[in-house]
Amino acid sequence: MTETATMAMPQIHDTILDAIGNTPLVRLNRVNRGVRAQVLAKVEYMNPGGSVKDRIGIAMIEDAERSGRLKPGGTIVEPTSGNTGAGLAIAAAIRGYKTIFVMPDKMSDEKIRYLRALGAKVVITPTAVEPDDPRSYYSVSKRLAEETPNAILAGQYWNQANPEAHYRTTGPEIWRQTAGKIDAFIAGMGTGGTISGTAKFLKEQNPNIQVVGIDPVGSLYTEYFRTGQLGPAFGYKVEGVGEDFLPTTMHFQYVDDVVQVGDKESFVMTRRMVREEGLFVGGSCGMAVAGAMRWLRAQNWDESKTAVILLPDSGVRYISKIFSDDWMRENGFLESEPISQLLDIRP
Ligand code: PMP
Repeated sequence: MTETATMAMPQIHDTILDAIGNTPLVRLNRVNRGVRAQVLAKVEYMNPGGSVKDRIGIAMIEDAERSGRLKPGGTIVEPTSGNTGAGLAIAAAIRGYKTIFVMPDKMSDEKIRYLRALGAKVVITPTAVEPDDPRSYYSVSKRLAEETPNAILAGQYWNQANPEAHYRTTGPEIWRQTAGKIDAFIAGMGTGGTISGTAKFLKEQNPNIQVVGIDPVGSLYTEYFRTGQLGPAFGYKVEGVGEDFLPTTMHFQYVDDVVQVGDKESFVMTRRMVREEGLFVGGSCGMAVAGAMRWLRAQNWDESKTAVILLPDSGVRYISKIFSDDWMRENGFLESEPISQLLDIRP
């Protein structure tokens, strides 16, 4: 484009909400050694609130406005690992709503401070209780929504505006950015909104696209996918992915395979993403990439194939954790096992 043509085209967003989405698709060049297929990363930390969840923040608010559930000056309550809170808080600031977020106590301090900086009230609840315990973050947020005047739950775990936001935005973007040349879509699963909505769109374009969900060791999704049974869940450190119940936003009919990844492998890969690819990503991104590499190695695809991995958020949120050697050592994630063994790389 000539300079004059560029000059003639104003590029002004009415609000920062218009800058959500259209995130870059970036080729991975080093962490994918041993995989011949082309591996691309959808870099969601480029969203204004720093994560993929900006997409559903405004989508859930607009849906609640349309249905009349959310009234002017109302309050939005949500249980969130942090990123959905940021997406909601930014949209709420612009639309004139208040926000209250309920977070489990395992979440990083940076996320809590960030949400408070965005104007939200943040309530911290214990992580190690069952979802139906009155102290759980699900129960506390439900009670707050009931007891606060003019308040609603955004409802990322049941609100179909969550997967629909990905059906409308994430899926079409990936299809356009790859010009339809995509053989696998790989993403971590939290609420399941990202994988369900994106996969639905992609499979409508081409049903042969393989959709792979990555799940942390400790979550019950993997067992459910393999057996249809909801077994016990146990604690893990990676944030934002895996569940101890089955949300209605997780649509397994679009998922072809599930790979389970442990904390240590996730965090080692997170650090490699920064040092080898220059992508300053969060722990669930390392998890998604580690799981993707294991799955892709097993496929043994050649150069003609393309896989897209979605990277949900930024490393900025984990400076005091994954990027702290002390924290990594305290949790046994810095022990000197050979990296090749840890990451299941076959020479
Ligand atoms: N990674 C992080 C860091 C997240 O906050 C989330 C959202 N909970 C996810 C991955 C998973 O996204 P989804 O809820 O759409 O499955």
